[in-house]
Amino acid sequence: TKPLLKVEGLKKYFPVKKGPLGRVRGHVKAVDGVSFDVYPGETLGIVGESGCGKSTTGRMLMRLLEPTEGRIEFDGRELTGLGPEEMRKVRRDIQMVFQDPFASLNPRHTVGKILEEPLIVHGVKDAADRKKKVREFLDIVGLSGYHASRYPHQFSGGQRQRIGIARALMTNPKLIIADEPVSALDVSIQSQVLNLMQDLQREFGLTYIFIAHDLGVVRHISDRVGVMYLGRLVELADSEALYDKPLHPYTQALLSAVPVPDPGFEREQIVLEGDIPSPANPPSGCTFHTRCPFRMDVCITTVPILRQTDTGHSVACHLYGGEADGNDNKTLVTE
Ligand code: SF4
Ligand code: MG
Repeated sequence: TKPLLKVEGLKKYFPVKKGPLGRVRGHVKAVDGVSFDVYPGETLGIVGESGCGKSTTGRMLMRLLEPTEGRIEFDGRELTGLGPEEMRKVRRDIQMVFQDPFASLNPRHTVGKILEEPLIVHGVKDAADRKKKVREFLDIVGLSGYHASRYPHQFSGGQRQRIGIARALMTNPKLIIADEPVSALDVSIQSQVLNLMQDLQREFGLTYIFIAHDLGVVRHISDRVGVMYLGRLVELADSEALYDKPLHPYTQALLSAVPVPDPGFEREQIVLEGDIPSPANPPSGCTFHTRCPFRMDVCITTVPILRQTDTGHSVACHLYGGEADGNDNKTLVTE
């Protein structure tokens, strides 16, 4: 199968302006050369601490943010360089679900109006058709038609997220980018919303990119998981491989913080030293070297390349034969 989405060398650098003249004094490398594929019907989890560039990556895929560099091929089409009108059409097929649905839903509009809006934007002219579809999708996400006349504040957090999901589904998208959709919800509600998303994926043949700051949340929903640190992917693997045998020391540390349900199984706790460095002034070489318990000399001088170790498992770390060869990898930088 061909990937539905192909991302290559995606970068987003934000200029840092300082001084009375607002001169550019450098760049925050929010996303610094990220590449991955997403296949039809799968869920790719993207995980990392806040500021690692995961949300920025999601927004660039919809061109809500312009990439500084890189390619985004969706459904056989290159998205970078498309004009606003063409991009608007593409956005039928790619939708986002946000952490706080209130932030993206107008609180003064009824839920019915909120759900109708994407249909209007995408040219569904008949009001009766729109209303019918709104009722249908409220039902699909576990609410009912009479909820259409109510306002967002009349719903619980979990119900509001169901409305956010319904809104994303209105245009029959192929890809949904969910940016921390359950992070603000109680654990019991989280699993209800995750189950709903999985049911909808099967029913509508959806492809998901599921962004989270916690490896625990994406575990059951993801087919593959990518781990980001300071704007780069440091590990990308099938879920099972990643959770059974994390290779990157950062992934190991993140995972050691996730409680293990099996009481007979103990994972060694890895506590990271220090905080995440500022992306405006990232460490040289492997940007994780300031916190890594396995740091070697080469880690300070040379950026490790994301390379495949065995089927479906890629890692960017000098512990796994990461000697820089520089032959064919554009993302290799020696600082
Ligand atoms: Fe640690 Fe070096 Fe691997 Fe970076 S490359 S994660 S510093 S061992
Ligand atoms: Mg975020």
